[in-house]
Amino acid sequence: MTRGRSGNGKGPVASLDPNRPTPRRIYIMVGAPGAGKGTQAQLIAQALGLPHIASGDLFRAALQADEALGREARRYMEKGALVPDDVTVRMIADRLAQPDATAGAILDGFPRTVAQAIALDTLLARRSERVSAVLYIAVSETELMRRLSGRWVCTGRQQHVFNEMLRPPKVPGICDIDGTKLQQRPDDQPKTIRARLDKQLPPMYEVIDHYNELGLLMAIPGEQPVEEVTAALLASISRGTPVAVR
Ligand code: AMP
Repeated sequence: MTRGRSGNGKGPVASLDPNRPTPRRIYIMVGAPGAGKGTQAQLIAQALGLPHIASGDLFRAALQADEALGREARRYMEKGALVPDDVTVRMIADRLAQPDATAGAILDGFPRTVAQAIALDTLLARRSERVSAVLYIAVSETELMRRLSGRWVCTGRQQHVFNEMLRPPKVPGICDIDGTKLQQRPDDQPKTIRARLDKQLPPMYEVIDHYNELGLLMAIPGEQPVEEVTAALLASISRGTPVAVR
C-alpha cells in the first residue's frame, strides 16, 4: 500500500520541501443513484473546503445552457444510460483544471466505469497526483428504489436534493436553502429508476473492485441518518485507513 508515503529516499520528503506544491486531495464518492452521495458530497466538500464536482450536475447545466455537450448527453440521460466515457472524461478533466480545484475536489458520480477510473488515474498521474481515497456509500437495492421514487431536486443553481421520507423540505415544494421550486427529475420515474439501477450498478461494482485492488476504498454504511453517514465519512477520511469490501 502506498498511501501516505511521502518520499522515495532519494529526494527531499514532500512535506519538507517548500517548493513542492501540496498534493491535491481528490476524493471520489461512489454510490448507486439514491445512495445519498450527492447530499454527502456537498457536506464533505463544505467540511473540507473543496469544490463539489458532480458529473450529473455538469451535464444538466450544459443541457440547460443548450451547449453541445448537453445536447449530446441528453439522449443518454433520458434513457437512464451512461454518457460515453470519452465525453464524460473530457468534461471532468476541464472541470478539474479550473482554479477552484487547485487544492483538490470531491468527485460525485464520476468515475462510473473502470475505463473512466483508469482515465482519471492516468490524468492525475501525469501531474504526479493520485486519488486520495474512494468513499463508497453502501445502500441495499430495495432501499434505493424507495428513496429514488421520493426524490425532489431544487431548480436553483446548486440543485439541492430533498426526499419525501428521508429529508423533507420545511415548506412542501420549496428548497430550504435557496427558496427555489422543487421538481422531480424525468429520470426519477419508477421505470427509469429500475433501468438506471440495472445499467449503472454493474459498472459501479467494477469501479469499486478497481479501487479496492488499489487499496483506496473506504466503505461506509449508508442506511443511517444523514449526519451519521457524514460523521462516518469524515472519520474515515481523517483515519485514512482503507476498508476492503466484497
Ligand atoms: P446523476 O445526477 O449522477 O444521477 O447523473 C444523471 C445522469 O447523467 C446519469 O443517469 C447519466 O446519464 C449521466 N452521467 C452522470 N455522471 C456520469 C458518468 N460519470 N458517466 C456517464 N454518464 C454520467
